[in-house]
Amino acid sequence: MRLHIGIDDTDSPNGMCTTYLGALLYRELSRLAEPIDLPRLIRLNPNIPYKTRGNGAVAMAFEADEGTIPEIKDLVLSHVGQLSDFTHENTNPGVAFLEGDVPGELREFSLKALREHVTINEAERVAREVGAEYFKFKLGRGIIGALAAIGYPLERFTYELLAYREPENWGTSRRVNGESVFLADSWAYPFSYDNVDPYKRTVLITPHGKDPVLVGIRGIDRGKVVQVFERVEFLEPVAFYQLYKTNQNTDDHLVPKKIGELRLYDSVVVRGKVARPYWERGRHVFFELEDDTGRIRVAAFEPTKKFRNWVRKLLPGDEIIAAGGVKEHEGVLTLNLEKFYPVKLVPKIEFKKPKCPRCGGTMKSKGDYLKCKRCGHKMPKKLVPVEVPRDLEKKIYEVPPDARKHLSRPLVLPGGEDKLLELL
Ligand code: ATP
Repeated sequence: MRLHIGIDDTDSPNGMCTTYLGALLYRELSRLAEPIDLPRLIRLNPNIPYKTRGNGAVAMAFEADEGTIPEIKDLVLSHVGQLSDFTHENTNPGVAFLEGDVPGELREFSLKALREHVTINEAERVAREVGAEYFKFKLGRGIIGALAAIGYPLERFTYELLAYREPENWGTSRRVNGESVFLADSWAYPFSYDNVDPYKRTVLITPHGKDPVLVGIRGIDRGKVVQVFERVEFLEPVAFYQLYKTNQNTDDHLVPKKIGELRLYDSVVVRGKVARPYWERGRHVFFELEDDTGRIRVAAFEPTKKFRNWVRKLLPGDEIIAAGGVKEHEGVLTLNLEKFYPVKLVPKIEFKKPKCPRCGGTMKSKGDYLKCKRCGHKMPKKLVPVEVPRDLEKKIYEVPPDARKHLSRPLVLPGGEDKLLELL
């Protein structure tokens, strides 16, 4: 009998990580039953507010003898009961079990949880419909992710190897030789990616929280991912590691929509025209985008760093394709920009001083007059319109790796442009 197990919402900013619990269980359960494929790390809607970090849920499937299924379920529930961080108000674990094949309704629910907002009631309804068993701890919001992780189609996927720390090191800074990460990355890139930020010269595989993760190594080639791990020099013991199959970096979350259809927490691709000049508040850059159905505020927030420079180059009238998540900012529905593609750029006109009509020399401003630097000719100050280069190319601009959503596909990977160019 095939048994699917889903787990979510066991962690808080103070510790734990659902992938750690998943990795422990995968090891233990593999002794009792035959694993079907790797465990899966499924990222769901990145815009929902309840997430601790990256809205990740974990699922795994086994071929198990009927007789061992109760033992497996007990083990899962006791691990979740013992290891979840129940002290945090936003930690509401959920566990789901499904026997047999994944029905279409669960697949649809999963895609809804990826792209929209769903309620605990909806999760309970779909569980009853498909005959899945679920267990709620506290509010039990985790059953949303637990069921969605089981039902996720995972037709496109990448890998992440997660290595964990010994408990006595949790909460201390992670000790990994940075140079070894740069070397391993240059050997494996782009089959393994996001290991380092070459511009800032920083290591990206080590998280910063109190959770048990030592490093996470991502890639599209599982062999390369494991070899990067082997090439990294660890200056603290690695407790154990687990390779996960994941929907990270697939762009699966993005759905093409009209601006008038955008709802809070959607992840979307829209095509529209820049409606007014950009403005800045704090270090955030904003502009407005409109199509024939409506208008939305678009934001490139401070952590997107140099990406904001490209956004500042956009002019009213430019037509672009934009991808991002819909959130509320200062009470206004706002598209948090992840990538954009300039489709049509309006000409950029600047008013400049003319050349000297007498000798062709350069004119200098003198109050209301212009005076030629070469021959001294004077004339009233009348500036002339000149078309200047736009400095934006017909290519996709994306936020830097440390500001990128887990689900967003980096342009360096095959298919990284597909979701945007579909709207061309
Ligand atoms: P980590 O990435 O470290 O595992 P996290 O960011 O995944 O942490 P969770 O602790 O899993 O955060 O919290 C996310 C919560 O939101 C879970 O309870 C999950 O069931 C729920 N959830 C996931 N997707 C949706 C959705 N689309 N609508 C409403 N709730 C959702």
